[in-house]
Amino acid sequence: MVASQQQPGLHTNLSDTQLLKLNQMLVFVSQNNEFYREKLNNISFPIHSTKDLQELPFTTKAELVEDQKNFAPHGKNHTFTKSEYVRYHQTSGTTGRPLKVMDTKESWSWWEDCWLEVFRSSGVTKEDTVYLAFSFGPFIGFWGAFEAAKKLGALVITGGSQTSKERLNSLIDNDATVLLGTPSYALHLGEVAKQNNIDLRETGVKKIITAGEPGGSVPSIRNQIETIWGATLFDHVGMTEMGAYGYSCSEHNGLHINESEFIAEVVNPDTLKSVEIGERGELVLTNLGRYGYPLIRYRTGDIVIHSSESCPCGNTYKLLPKGIIGRKDDMVVIRGINIYPSSIEAIVREFSAITEYRIIYYTKGGMDQIKLQIETNVDISSIVATHLRDRVGLRIDVEVVETNILPRFDMKARRVLDKRDAF
Ligand SMILES: [Zn+2]
Repeated sequence: MVASQQQPGLHTNLSDTQLLKLNQMLVFVSQNNEFYREKLNNISFPIHSTKDLQELPFTTKAELVEDQKNFAPHGKNHTFTKSEYVRYHQTSGTTGRPLKVMDTKESWSWWEDCWLEVFRSSGVTKEDTVYLAFSFGPFIGFWGAFEAAKKLGALVITGGSQTSKERLNSLIDNDATVLLGTPSYALHLGEVAKQNNIDLRETGVKKIITAGEPGGSVPSIRNQIETIWGATLFDHVGMTEMGAYGYSCSEHNGLHINESEFIAEVVNPDTLKSVEIGERGELVLTNLGRYGYPLIRYRTGDIVIHSSESCPCGNTYKLLPKGIIGRKDDMVVIRGINIYPSSIEAIVREFSAITEYRIIYYTKGGMDQIKLQIETNVDISSIVATHLRDRVGLRIDVEVVETNILPRFDMKARRVLDKRDAF
């Protein structure tokens, strides 16, 4: 059990642990879960090494969504009868129809344990007061963190249905020591604090755990948040359908995958073959302890660097240097160059004078173009444009817009507007 480990990521026999858990899961799921019984019907279990996992078929989100459409409302990817299920979540639906995901008591407890690992890696203890700036709707967001903080014995304060100002007041009044939110929202709270003459460095918040967007592992974004709050930022990554699978450590040089509970592969999204060490590819994950909602070789759509680097922090779990580089679905090709919005954001956040931004793709004279809109009190458009041209390799128009006209987000920020002719 993850819950019994006091030191995250210290394993002497990780591959044995993984193989044992993988086989237990595969044997059970291939017999009791209709979705996987059909998918794996020609394969005999147990397998002999975790490498043999590569012989099994991939699972995609499109497949899960299609299954739910055909077998409404919950599809066939459940291993137990409905009466065993206690928690329901759905994906945010940013890239299509939301996916419904249910957990049994055991599966949900497994989520909590995965989140406990995130807290331990960040040094959060039962002495802490954890404030969750999250709306607590059907999206999974910080629900797992809420349960894990409770399990840890920390005091948990929920910030659902509150304005940003109310959230600030609540976390100050209650002496919160840890803030959980998206990187965008941590920055937004900084803006609100400034408007209200609040110095966040004087609050009790000394740790911030971000999730929901890749920003927490981007140095320029992390530095900005840490400076505004006078706190240390830790990043976390998870998915509704997969689980809470990764977290940053004291070295802040990427994300570790919790390999006791997940097996990771990095594949070329076109050939679906493993990429070489040092190359970028799509992260493919298998969860080992979520029997109620198992996913085997799930194509996450997250682009990462395949690395064999060992981390100086001592955690031996696989490291994803620089965290999630971008989403496969978010990548666009403009004039022959692969563009991830996250790489533009990394540059934008180096300028602390920029409070909000938006990326617009459009077509002019038959050519695809990019424009960046920024909110700032100082006209730094030409210097930002120079940085973008030098580092992205493309001329991007930068336009300064009026303060507070661009939308703000507390979960799953959507800062890209695609107005290209073909879309
Ligand atoms: Zn580390």
